[in-house]
Amino acid sequence: MGRIAVCPGSFDPITYGHLDIIERASKIFDTVYVSVLKNSSKEGLFTPEERVELIRQVSERYPNVEVRSFNGLLIDFCEEVGAEAIVRGLRAVSDFEYEMQLTSMNRKLNSSIETIYMMTNNNYSFISSSIVKEVAKYGGKIEDVVPPLVEEALKRKFNLQ
Ligand code: ADP
Repeated sequence: MGRIAVCPGSFDPITYGHLDIIERASKIFDTVYVSVLKNSSKEGLFTPEERVELIRQVSERYPNVEVRSFNGLLIDFCEEVGAEAIVRGLRAVSDFEYEMQLTSMNRKLNSSIETIYMMTNNNYSFISSSIVKEVAKYGGKIEDVVPPLVEEALKRKFNLQ
């Protein structure tokens, strides 16, 4: 088992920014669970199952990365898989406030699970799933920001091929 971490998020869809955090976490922890939140109030472009499938395919080369979707509280999921840490990425100051609230709430729920933040890779600091979707919708170039498989999936969603 060893040391286990969870990388939670919406991943609608996964970008190189996410993948960078997952890869770095996989070097520090023995097992990393990428967990796709199902209970988010936001209606996604991709279904949770489609998101999980895309993440599975693009993270295939990391043997210690497992992909799951989950309903309910993140802390419950962490307890279920025996994780000692939650790993999140930070892009800009604008991420900070929300992340602070999230971390405080999770700490109240279970103080033994630590939240760790990784600074974004400079190349990916301006990438978010929402921007990628917006650009893809109008046929803009996204090959530098998402893996080819995700680019294809986005084109199919927007009927661009
Ligand atoms: P959420 O809706 O929970 O914020 P996201 O899928 O948007 O889910 O993000 C999941 C995690 O990945 C978050 O910790 C977010 O900060 C991080 N993340 C997203 N994009 C990037 C990026 N370009 N660089 C670094 N971290 C990122």
